[in-house]
Amino acid sequence: MNSNAMGIPHFLAIPFPIQGHINPLLQFAQDLVPYGCRITFLSSDENLQKLKRARHGKAMDSDIKLVSLPDGVDPEDDRKDQATVISTTIKTMRAMLPNLIQDVNALDTHNKISCIIVTKNMGWALEVAHHLGIKGALFWPASATSLASFNSIQTLIHQGTIDSETGLPTKNLKIQLSSNLPLMEAAAMPWYCLDNAFFFLHMKEEMKNLNLAEKWLCNTTFDLEAGAFFTSPKLLPIGPLMAKEHNILFSLCEEDRTCLEWLDLQPTKSVIYVSFGSMVSLEPNQFNELALALDLLKRPFLWVVREDNGLQVKNACEFRGSQGKVVSWAPQKKVLSHPAIACFISHCGWNSTIEGVYNGVPFLCWPFCSDQLMNQTYICDVWKVGVGFDRDESGLISKEEIKKKVEQLLVDEEIKGRSTKLMEMVIKNKAQGDQNLHMFIDWAKD
Ligand code: UDP
Repeated sequence: MNSNAMGIPHFLAIPFPIQGHINPLLQFAQDLVPYGCRITFLSSDENLQKLKRARHGKAMDSDIKLVSLPDGVDPEDDRKDQATVISTTIKTMRAMLPNLIQDVNALDTHNKISCIIVTKNMGWALEVAHHLGIKGALFWPASATSLASFNSIQTLIHQGTIDSETGLPTKNLKIQLSSNLPLMEAAAMPWYCLDNAFFFLHMKEEMKNLNLAEKWLCNTTFDLEAGAFFTSPKLLPIGPLMAKEHNILFSLCEEDRTCLEWLDLQPTKSVIYVSFGSMVSLEPNQFNELALALDLLKRPFLWVVREDNGLQVKNACEFRGSQGKVVSWAPQKKVLSHPAIACFISHCGWNSTIEGVYNGVPFLCWPFCSDQLMNQTYICDVWKVGVGFDRDESGLISKEEIKKKVEQLLVDEEIKGRSTKLMEMVIKNKAQGDQNLHMFIDWAKD
């Protein structure tokens, strides 16, 4: 075991090289600094450049050292294709990691790397850590329930509930992962997505590596999804992790802060905030339908249309009229805490979910894939702080449906009341999250 002379834990943080993993892990790294921890943060070469650009040359906290390795993705390849990134990352980074660890340790002989923290898809690094006698932990940038569901894959196969090769349900039954967890549609399992078989088989293998980690840290609270914590003693709720003002620039994208000034000019609880996170894009006809709905609603709206959505950015900017503001990337945590926000049209990514909950903002759920349907189940059926949209026969969410649901939500005092109560609960839970974080750091020190 690599122990440090001074008893200071030195973490090597290794996120899967996409926004949804880098941002929360970087933020988590920042949260470890006040406890006297040292952090070496490993990103891909490409993302290191993006991070530096987004920070406008502002230095990182001196206790966080950025290092990088190539992720092996060909410049011609699509980095949005997660299957490619998963396989090239394993092939390329894995072979280079032991040398990188050696180099980092050679520069810091009194504070050698004592624990490796990975996110999903980087379980191979836990294997490397295991061989080198370094402790391993998982930082899971999604709900504890979604991790519990991946961890139940073997049991579900064994029970004959899902197919062992595709993960598809064998019976037309809802799934209950444990008696304390909500009954969910099979399609709410996070491995149901476009390239279902690949992700399912990958996660079946990945869980073997993730089980090498002794701690599974989740940005959640015990009370939000209590049932999940009875499924494994490794699960540790350390949330809600919320960026403090000084570390708000930990983002791969440049935030357009003009929307905060624009929000200052809007009446209290008047603005519809629309964001689908860092990966999801709407089909052109669905995009138009949403634009038309926002127009019909005749309310102020703040809409995030990322630059990688090409033509849609131009269309959204032309269309926004006098009542809307379109940005390519918002300072979302700040936006959600702004008093002008009335509701959140969200794809229900976990970070967006917890940020909305933390600010007591009611949701209109528009999930696409992975864990988003499961998160919708929590939002609509368990916490009851939002509503979902119904699709028409062609699978479209019509402008009439969007308008109707937004209007219904905005006058629903019960949902608003529950959103406030949930927010208060989660704010209270922060103390428990901090205590768990303490325990984790003490464990990493030994
Ligand atoms: N986010 C942001 N600005 C935006 C849109 C999203 O800062 O304009 C942040 C958001 O606060 C959240 C993350 O990006 O922390 C999105 O994570 P989530 O898990 O919700 O979705 P994903 O991007 O992984 O699909």
